[in-house]
Amino acid sequence: MNAHTSFRATDFSATMRQRQWADASPQAMLCRRVIDETHDVKTFVFSAASDRMFCFNAGQYVVLHLMIGGAAVTRCYSVSSPPTRPLDLHITVKRTPGGLVSNWLHENLRSGDEIMTEGPLGSFKFDGSPNQKPLFLGGGSGITPLMSMLRTLTDRASDLDVRLIYCVRSPRDLIFRSELDALAARFPNLGVTCICSRKDSSWAGRTGRVDGPMLLRLVPDLGERTVYACGPEQYMKTLRDGLGEAGVHTRGYHEESFGGDRGGVAPDLESAVLSSVHFARSGLEHCCAPGETLLEAARNCGVYVPTGCQQGICGTCRVAKLSGEVAADDLGGLTPEEKSAGFVLACCSRARGAVLLDL
Ligand SMILES: Cc1cc2nc3c(=O)[nH]c(=O)nc-3n(C[C@H](O)[C@H](O)[C@H](O)COP(=O)(O)OP(=O)(O)OC[C@H]3O[C@@H](n4cnc5c(N)ncnc54)[C@H](O)[C@@H]3O)c2cc1C
Repeated sequence: MNAHTSFRATDFSATMRQRQWADASPQAMLCRRVIDETHDVKTFVFSAASDRMFCFNAGQYVVLHLMIGGAAVTRCYSVSSPPTRPLDLHITVKRTPGGLVSNWLHENLRSGDEIMTEGPLGSFKFDGSPNQKPLFLGGGSGITPLMSMLRTLTDRASDLDVRLIYCVRSPRDLIFRSELDALAARFPNLGVTCICSRKDSSWAGRTGRVDGPMLLRLVPDLGERTVYACGPEQYMKTLRDGLGEAGVHTRGYHEESFGGDRGGVAPDLESAVLSSVHFARSGLEHCCAPGETLLEAARNCGVYVPTGCQQGICGTCRVAKLSGEVAADDLGGLTPEEKSAGFVLACCSRARGAVLLDL
């Protein structure tokens, strides 16, 4: 009998208290099952490698730490299962053409494998307060954190008035299609609209791209709703423009971008030559190579910085800058308050002159 089968129902509340997953230090998770969702999406079902439970908010993500081809890599994946089912944790991964980790997971991760995971992380959270009317807007694989939110509500048999608008390229890209149909049939206050951007003879539903007028047609009470939006950066931009175009101020707007633009900050080669990073707590000093990020500088000195997306989105590599200037181009990974408190993202910041970090 292993640690998982030995778990007893009477242990439930004690184990629940023990589980302090919020400390976010990397820990092992055991892959229990792999589910084929669509032609290029799989769900990986994990349980904790110890007999603990997962404690997180719907909407949060985990960072996977993997060794691929001898190199350490990390990527963020939103939890698609709800916190109301704390015994296992699902991530739902879409293959990215040419992508390292998503393809590796699809081709290699099997039931019985253990991987290191950090989390839960992220401030994209659904609080489920009873006086809101949520509008979930999902683009492609961005449905994953929204599915966690939706499953939380339906597990609790909530009668909240919820709308989901889910945009994909074609019908075969619809993830969780049968579950969404079943939930919409069971919960009269849940409205699900799927939209395909490409015309397809097998699709009788809506086609086109979401813009302001379409949003208002589909959700006439848009201004009374709290929006939770997630998808690739381009989709998020279209949504923001659409809401602006509709001239509607929603009750609240929360978003998570999955990235997509690998542009990042252009290396400032001239100033980088003269730049250095000083690690205050480690007592180390490093002369930067041209274009080197703070993250690369830290790694080159053996200073540990937790990382996730490495595109300036997730905020995992946030670090306090004690003095000096950096050239940075984050993609929303820092709040304005964090920026004014002196935090920078190590993955997308480069020193300009001497920089002192609280590391
Ligand atoms: C908070 C958060 C949550 C997320 N949740 C999910 C989720 O639930 N499900 C999901 O599927 N994804 C999710 N993602 C996206 C995920 O983290 C990965 O970005 C995605 O799986 C692609 O990773 P990859 O390693 O396969 O691709 P990468 O190797 O990172 O490549 C991405 C793309 O860039 C191209 N590329 C690679 N290297 C270069 C280069 N040097 N120059 C130019 N182009 C290059 C590749 O060809 C590919 O098209 C999330 C991201 C964030 C930030």
